[in-house]
Amino acid sequence: MSKTLEPCPNFIGGEWIESTTARTPVFNPSIGEVISECPAGNLADANTAVEAAHAAFPAWMETPPVERARILGKFKMLMEENFEDIVRSNTREHGKTLVESRGDVKRGMEVIEFALGVPSLMMGEVLENIARGIDCEAIRQPLGVCVGITPFNFPAMVPLWMYPIAIACGNTFVLKPSEKVPLTAIKIAKLLEKAGLPKGVLNIVHGGREVVDALLTHPKVKAISFVGSTPIARHIYETGTKHGKRVQSNGGAKNYVIIMPDADVENSTRGVIEAAFGCAGERCMAGSTAVVVGAAEKLVLPTLVEATKRIRVGPTDREAQPDMGAVISRQHRDRVQELIGIGEQQGAKVLADGRGLKVSEAPNGFYVGATILDHVQSGTTVAKEEIFGPVLNVMHMEDLGAAIELANKSMYGNGASIFTRSGKAAREFKHSAKAGMIGINIGVPASMAWFPFNGWDESFFGDLHMQGREGVQFFTQQKVTTSRWFSYGEGDIWHTEKK
Ligand code: NAD
Repeated sequence: MSKTLEPCPNFIGGEWIESTTARTPVFNPSIGEVISECPAGNLADANTAVEAAHAAFPAWMETPPVERARILGKFKMLMEENFEDIVRSNTREHGKTLVESRGDVKRGMEVIEFALGVPSLMMGEVLENIARGIDCEAIRQPLGVCVGITPFNFPAMVPLWMYPIAIACGNTFVLKPSEKVPLTAIKIAKLLEKAGLPKGVLNIVHGGREVVDALLTHPKVKAISFVGSTPIARHIYETGTKHGKRVQSNGGAKNYVIIMPDADVENSTRGVIEAAFGCAGERCMAGSTAVVVGAAEKLVLPTLVEATKRIRVGPTDREAQPDMGAVISRQHRDRVQELIGIGEQQGAKVLADGRGLKVSEAPNGFYVGATILDHVQSGTTVAKEEIFGPVLNVMHMEDLGAAIELANKSMYGNGASIFTRSGKAAREFKHSAKAGMIGINIGVPASMAWFPFNGWDESFFGDLHMQGREGVQFFTQQKVTTSRWFSYGEGDIWHTEKK
């Protein structure tokens, strides 16, 4: 049994405040025990957080970008010093392995590194003499109060996709973390507070739908960044834009990995395994469908099945680490297992079966073993639905053209990868694939902080993506000034008065 529950306060106007609203349990998925309780939040919590951010905005906007960057520099240093502590918190509430958590935290820290460049990133443009004696300049200014709403699967990284850039640009921020993993976000915010961030610049309000809807419609909120499932991403985009806000909204995905007959067997197998089963498949960049082309089925599939069956699954909240951890909740485990059954009923062959997995060290953990569904047919439930668990669909195609056509039918457009030794095939794939992040002999082509996290179609709603220069554009508005200066009396046709 869990002993003391970890506190889960809101962070509003620089104060750590317990919400008085009802609470939902936060689990350690490795052992299935409650470790904290997240407040359900309400309208009043959301309003207080927005008011605090609004009050902090004028002074923060006037803080020179270089001073803002210095605070972020200190924040980055504190993140490095407390790295393992954050990693362990991440693993404890999410269930992923420590190696995966280190990746999660590092990718988030890279966004801070990117945001440190804000004095250059915010620089404007000037053109002298747009007409004789007239100059024109465009500068970037912050928007005001920005909001971030984040999913459970990257407790550290996804919030860090948003607020370091937002606050570096002079905005203030309200973060609404996932109610399933609210604790790592708190730990990280405490470091930013320690780095000297003024009160109210970053606020955290916990909760679910009521809080989100209040933030989406609040007149003082200028911009909303969302990451989560596609139906909610669409709702956020539609509601936010309807209320006049700037919105960037990342949704779900179903990413295809094409394996050509000339692919290196070992590298492609490793790439597919890592893409499908890394973070127990709970990644928007998971390579959840392998398309084996022609003879690749004979070359790669047996190795893939063998390697999948060797994946060790178990608790991640201790020193001895498995290859793969638990999924986020009991309900999610049951749904993933149900979907494997539906896949089987709809004609797929189960080559590796992770259902009903027993983990003796942690019998109450939320485990599903690594699963392969072969001969998945287009149009079936598992082909269409984002399973978001350790399940790899395998589909078979005759040639590259047919494989690309199949992948391009997906309603999503986050990532797509190819494993091949042919430059020609890779080039054709890169050119024709209908996805915003392409991998060539890379299973998970997730963009680093300096590039946009570039979903297309139902994987993204909005115009400007998170991270990179698009992130800076999203969190700033341009002001264009056209100016002309006269010497005293020059061009004055009404007065002739001279000094
Ligand atoms: P989710 O959509 O259930 O929740 C995301 C956030 O929305 C949470 O903060 C949650 O509290 C809030 N929310 C949930 N239901 C809501 C509602 N009805 N109204 C308002 N707010 C609501 O997603 P999740 O299960 O936490 O995360 C997994 C999903 O996130 C997957 O679909 C995955 O692909 C996606 N994801 C996408 C990306 C990307 O960049 N495209 C990255 C990570 C995760």
